[in-house]
Amino acid sequence: MTERKTFYFDNNATTRVAPEVVEAMLPFLRDFWGNPSSAYSFGSQVAKRVEEAREQVAALIGAEPKEIIFTSCGTESNNAVLQSALATQPGKRHILTTAVEHSAIIRHCEVLRKQGCDVTFLPVDAEGALDLHLLDQSIRTETAVVSVMWANNETGVVFPIEEIAAICRSRHVLFHTDATQAPGKLKLDVGEVGADFLTLSAHKLHAPKGIGLLYVRRRTKFQPYLIGGHQERGKRGGTENVASIVGFGRAAELALTRLEDENTRVRALRDRLENTILRVVPNTRRNGAKEPRLPNTSNIAFDFVEAEGILLKLDELGICVSSGSACTTGSLNPSHVMTAMGIKPARAKGCVRFSLGVYNTDEEVDYLLTHLPQVIARLREASPEKPARHAKTLSDLAPVVLSQCLPSLQK
Ligand SMILES: *Cc1c(COP(=O)(O)O)cnc(C)c1O
Repeated sequence: MTERKTFYFDNNATTRVAPEVVEAMLPFLRDFWGNPSSAYSFGSQVAKRVEEAREQVAALIGAEPKEIIFTSCGTESNNAVLQSALATQPGKRHILTTAVEHSAIIRHCEVLRKQGCDVTFLPVDAEGALDLHLLDQSIRTETAVVSVMWANNETGVVFPIEEIAAICRSRHVLFHTDATQAPGKLKLDVGEVGADFLTLSAHKLHAPKGIGLLYVRRRTKFQPYLIGGHQERGKRGGTENVASIVGFGRAAELALTRLEDENTRVRALRDRLENTILRVVPNTRRNGAKEPRLPNTSNIAFDFVEAEGILLKLDELGICVSSGSACTTGSLNPSHVMTAMGIKPARAKGCVRFSLGVYNTDEEVDYLLTHLPQVIARLREASPEKPARHAKTLSDLAPVVLSQCLPSLQK
C-alpha cells in the first residue's frame, strides 16, 4: 500500500471514513467488545449503544428506530426486500423495477427471472428520466413490489420518489427505494414519501464498509433474509457489527449537519468542474439531466477516447475517478445505465463519472482541471478514431479561459 496525495473524485463508489466516525468506533473495537445479546452488563451496555445508533440513523431518514434493521451492506438490504416481498405474498410473482438500478437489484432480478419470476425493467429517456404513466400502467395484480432507486449512482439523476410512492400506494403495491446515494446530499423523510422499504449503505456516507440498513415501514410484512438468532427483533439473525453500527450512527448525525455544505459549496465545485470541462475540452457532453440531480455528481462523455485510458492517465496523477459504477469497471461492456439512456457504445465507452464530497477543496478541483485537458488531448492524438479536423493539442487549449476557471491559480 502506498500513501501519496490522493485527489479523490469517486465518492459515489465509496467515501472516506470521517475521523469523527473512527473516534466513535474505537472504544467498541478496543474495550467494549461484549456481545449485545449477553445478559451481563458488559454486553447490555453495548446493546444500549446499538440502540442509540439506531435512533441516529432513524433520524436521518425520518423513521422510527423500530423500523430500522441493520444489515451487512446495501446489497443485502436490496436482496432482502425482493425476497421478502415474494415470500410474504405467495401469489405474486412479478417485480417492477428500472433499467438503471444498481447491480444489487438488476442482477438479483435476472436470477429471480431464471427462477420463474416475471420482471419488468422500465426504460428511461435520453436524460435518464422515467415515464410515470408507463410505470403506473406496468403495475399488475401479481406485482409483488416496485423497486426504484432514489438517485442514480452513475449520473446522479434523481427520480420523483414521492410521486412514485403515491402511485404504488394508490395501486396497493409495496414500494422499495434504494436510497444509497441520497443521504447527506438530499433531504430524506420516509414519512413524507411513504415508502414501505428503503435501503442505505454506510460506506457511501463516510462510515465503514460492510454495514447497511433496511427501513421496513411499521406494519409492513417482512420475512427475514438471514435466519438465525433473535437479533434485530428477529428480523435479521447474526451478532451485531457493533463498532460499525456505532460508526454508522455517528455518520448519520454528521450527514444531517453537512447537508448544507453539500448543497452549496460542493454543488458549486461540481458545477465549476463540469462547466469548465464542457467549455475547455472539445467533443464532450454531460450524461443525464442537469436537474434534478445529486449536487455532487457529474458524468461526462469524452468522444474519441476510451474511459479506461483516461482513468489510467489520471491515476498516474493521483486522481481517482470512475467509468460507470465500481461494479461494472473491469468489464468491457458499456455501463447498463448509459445503454438505457440510448447512448451508443462508441460514446458510452468514453464516459467518466466525477463524484465529489465534503472533503473536496477548490485546490483539488483546480489540480484536476489543470491536468485533464492535456490528458484528453494526448489520448486523442494517439487514438485511431480521432476526427481529422479537431485534434486539439496542449497549445490549442485557450490558457486564458482555463485560468478564468481556476481561481486559486490567479492568486
Ligand atoms: C453502492 C450502492 C449499492 C451497494 O451498496 P454496498 O453496501 O456496497 O453493497 C447499492 N445501490 C446503490 C445505488 C449504490 O450506490
